[in-house]
Amino acid sequence: MSAITKKICLLGDFSVGKTSLIRRFVENMFSEQYLSTVGVKISRKSLKLKTDLDTHQVNLLIWDLEGHTRFKSITPTYLKGASGSIIVADLTRSKTLNNLSHHIDFFLEINPQSSVIIALNKADLIPQEKLAKLMELYGAHHSTQVVQAYPTSAKTGAKVNEIFYELSHSILARS
Ligand code: GDP
Ligand code: MG
Repeated sequence: MSAITKKICLLGDFSVGKTSLIRRFVENMFSEQYLSTVGVKISRKSLKLKTDLDTHQVNLLIWDLEGHTRFKSITPTYLKGASGSIIVADLTRSKTLNNLSHHIDFFLEINPQSSVIIALNKADLIPQEKLAKLMELYGAHHSTQVVQAYPTSAKTGAKVNEIFYELSHSILARS
């Protein structure tokens, strides 16, 4: 079994649930309280991924970046060397959905060969019909680097493992 270490980043506006998605994935925990992220925090998790030929161990280094625009000037340094990104928006705040493409372009400008997954988070707060409509509006993206969009919930855990595994599979396929 081969082992590789890959850096991924979560990006998105303030309070969309970046830290909560990481916490759900790494520790299987959730808190209603806002735990503000200052600067950057790196979490680790190892995944076993099966491909046709082999089983791979992927050691993820998950970089959590603070969302305030005032830190934007230092963000490019943090994004350098990332193999993939989960770009997060909050389904209850349309401004964060409209900012998705900005975050995607920003990330891909620095890492043009990397993979991107879109997480439309806080799906637990949205009625099912509205969710389908929002997925249609914001889930599509024209860059070939964007693998897929998922409605996620850090609160219930819905699709949280999926986004990290899907991104890791895509990174593995590219490397
Ligand atoms: P960040 O600034 O993007 O890191 O956002 P946080 O992870 O700190 O989350 C911001 C707020 O949204 C917190 O109060 C969380 O409890 C809440 N939150 C995050 N994800 C979800 C979710 O999927 N559902 C609900 N209902 N609340 C969430
Ligand atoms: Mg945070």
